Amino acid sequence: MTSTFRTLDSADIRGKRVLLRVDLNVPMENGKVGDATRIERVLPTIREIADKGGKVVLLAHFGRPKGGPDVVNSLRPVVAAVSELLGRPVGFAADCIGDVAASAISAMQDGEILLLENTRFHKGEEKNDPAFVTELAKLGDFYVNDAFSAAHRAHASTEGVARLLPCCAGRAMQAELDALTLALGAPIRPVAAIVGGAKVSSKLDLLGNLVERVDTLIIGGGMANTFLFAQGKAIGKSLCEKDLADTARSILAAAQAAHCRILLPIDATVAREFKAHSPSRFVDVDHVGEDEMILDIGPKSIVAVEQALANTKTLVWNGPFGAFELPPFDAATMQIAKWAASLTRDGKLESVAGGGDTVSALNAAGVADQFTYVSTAGGAFLEWMEGKVLPGVEALRTK
Ligand code: AMP
Repeated sequence: MTSTFRTLDSADIRGKRVLLRVDLNVPMENGKVGDATRIERVLPTIREIADKGGKVVLLAHFGRPKGGPDVVNSLRPVVAAVSELLGRPVGFAADCIGDVAASAISAMQDGEILLLENTRFHKGEEKNDPAFVTELAKLGDFYVNDAFSAAHRAHASTEGVARLLPCCAGRAMQAELDALTLALGAPIRPVAAIVGGAKVSSKLDLLGNLVERVDTLIIGGGMANTFLFAQGKAIGKSLCEKDLADTARSILAAAQAAHCRILLPIDATVAREFKAHSPSRFVDVDHVGEDEMILDIGPKSIVAVEQALANTKTLVWNGPFGAFELPPFDAATMQIAKWAASLTRDGKLESVAGGGDTVSALNAAGVADQFTYVSTAGGAFLEWMEGKVLPGVEALRTK
């Protein structure tokens, strides 16, 4: 796919000091990296720059330090994991600007790799302070951003530096941008979106943007209850934001005006208690008992979603269909995930999914690697789906 972003293909980096922004904000367990997914995603970019003869200077944030250096948020313990996964030595500098960083970088040979300490140890990072941006930019000849997950923030290391140095997207960023462009930028039609999860209130911008862009919007999860309530259905004790009934009705009206078909559940799996294995039954959405709550969409709705997906060429998915952490209320999410994966495997569907819970659900279904693309970038993925401008991405666009 042709990208509208500068990539490493056209970058001349031999002998250059390349500031490479990565996401190393990995979970730590007893001083060791717990889940190394984020590190693994940026290894190809690190290798490529090093192999092309660039000096790789890694920039990253870690945790949420309060206005200065502290041991808990130091990137030092992450160096060993990066080095081990890369199979190459990785140096470390105890500051990301100033003499400490400058002298460590000046000692580097072409192809070597150095990690600089947490950019958030300086207040200028999150403020995108021009003086701090200048200090960072002084350390490099070229800037590569491979941290899509931080691209929704206009920070010094994600946006500011891109304005001062020649720059491009790294391979992980490129893959993410290509996938998101495929899903919502210039999708093969018809395109469907699945939006599930707990609440309408957290996904208003998302729903508003999607009705303008997709042919079918499939609504599941707790948020579907608010729509059902807005349509006058009795939903018992289900999770519902009753004060958003008007909003739900206006989303339905906007969808109609935009010729976007909305698919709401026609039946549900209901229970009296919000807990795993609580006794449950299937019921049409018109007949939910007063003391029951909807915890998943029902079998008829699953069939309707599967039929909709069979007539779709592109799918973008955020949010589970039910309380998927509590079996058996994971049934619809698991079954539909497997169905979307099989359509993808057969070359009939482009499938892009993202958001923390969605990634967990696809992993639980064992199909995450069978989707066209799964984004682990929570906030940035949602903002992209909401149609918002991501400052770190805009800075990389070819003008
Ligand atoms: P979100 O973070 O908005 O994507 O919401 C994900 C959460 O929504 C998960 O923890 C699910 O358990 C929850 N959820 C999905 N469907 C329902 C439902 N019908 N009732 C209550 N919670 C739900």
